[in-house]
Amino acid sequence: MALKALDIYKLLPKKNCKECGVPTCLTFAMKLASGKADLDLCPYLDETARSMLGASTRPPIRKVKVGVGERSFTIGDETVFYRHEKTFYHQPGIVFSITDEMDEASIRAVVERVRDEKLTRVGADLVINGIAVVHTAADPAAYGRAVAVIEELADLPEVLITTDPVALEAALVLCGGFRPLIASATADNYQAFAALAKKYGCPLAISAPDLAAMKDLVGKVTAAGVENLVLDLAPASPGAFIVTSSLVRQQSLARTVPELGYPVLYNTCKSSSPDAAIVAGILKYAGVIVTAPLSKAETFAALTLRQNIYTDPQKPIQMNPGLYRIGSPGTDAPVLMTVNFSLTFFTLQGYLEGTRMPCFMLVVDTEGQSVLTAIAAGKLNETLVRDSIKKFDVESQVTHRKVIIPGYASPLSGAIEDASGWKVLVGPRDAAEIGEYLEKEWKA
Ligand code: SF4
Repeated sequence: MALKALDIYKLLPKKNCKECGVPTCLTFAMKLASGKADLDLCPYLDETARSMLGASTRPPIRKVKVGVGERSFTIGDETVFYRHEKTFYHQPGIVFSITDEMDEASIRAVVERVRDEKLTRVGADLVINGIAVVHTAADPAAYGRAVAVIEELADLPEVLITTDPVALEAALVLCGGFRPLIASATADNYQAFAALAKKYGCPLAISAPDLAAMKDLVGKVTAAGVENLVLDLAPASPGAFIVTSSLVRQQSLARTVPELGYPVLYNTCKSSSPDAAIVAGILKYAGVIVTAPLSKAETFAALTLRQNIYTDPQKPIQMNPGLYRIGSPGTDAPVLMTVNFSLTFFTLQGYLEGTRMPCFMLVVDTEGQSVLTAIAAGKLNETLVRDSIKKFDVESQVTHRKVIIPGYASPLSGAIEDASGWKVLVGPRDAAEIGEYLEKEWKA
């Protein structure tokens, strides 16, 4: 069970030396109680206190990093069961699988897609995270050859899926320094797999027939010196995944079974409903999702869903308020006012770019709320628009004094005119109509 901050405080050395990065031992105790600090940060803890605090103060779900460098991804370190309680922090790494029986050209095609394909959505570049290499060939050396093709083409995180330690080491000699995730050790082979994970400093996935056996295996593998674990749940169906993954999340957060406090891997390749499996993985706590390569449309759907689920529900994605340029607008270019809700911004920006008419976007700070919500909440008003025109020095950029406001902000048009002295033109309600609107209505 989790200890309370005061119980933890009693066990701390109380030097208030700040070496743990916080001003007092009490603050450190509070951070430990909420799983936001590591015991190792305090160098003065004696062994008795360390063993008493042990698992009850570590983050309920361990943070694990897969890969190195720019494309590496971090999973785990989650603190809530429901997204609306706070937020989900580390989105699942989605990886496309190849096998070592595929010809080189086919492996290259998958790797190049993962390396190059991206979806830019609400200001973020969304990508598939890496490659899972599945050992299906009879020859262990084939596994190394498949990994060599990936290493030649890209710095992508890898998931090495095999049951054969010989094949595994043939791959690790090539990519072990890049911290691939090894998947998956079982009760039968964990000693060899743990030794290799330790030798190359890699995270290790483990698999067991049920959660009780998984708990036992966690104990054995951590005793063998590997701490960065991922639980490969190997469910029979997406429904089974949801049940098991939810249990793991629940029991690790409540610390009723702290041994299950690791991120989860979901290999969807054998699922008869792969799309449902990927959706279940994204929605229900997978840390790594292995899938056969998806079509472009399926890829973008998965990336969009993942982005939505891993957006902080209490903090809409916001743009920085300011004056943005579309093309190279001159002093007679239109000025379109909009809000800093990113979805509104990027939707309007896309349509404006399509018009090929250079213009300015005056983005006002509605704390990330959309036009209608901001008006209803009193966040979008004439004072904000007037102050934004001044703050972002719009007057020095254009010679006219006209501002186009969103159609849904039409009730504010008179008040904005009175407050700012600018002539207000009411634009369309639907951003898709902005091109036609500008063509017909805009005269500097
Ligand atoms: Fe207290 Fe240890 Fe932090 Fe020093 S390092 S302030 S003794 S908890």
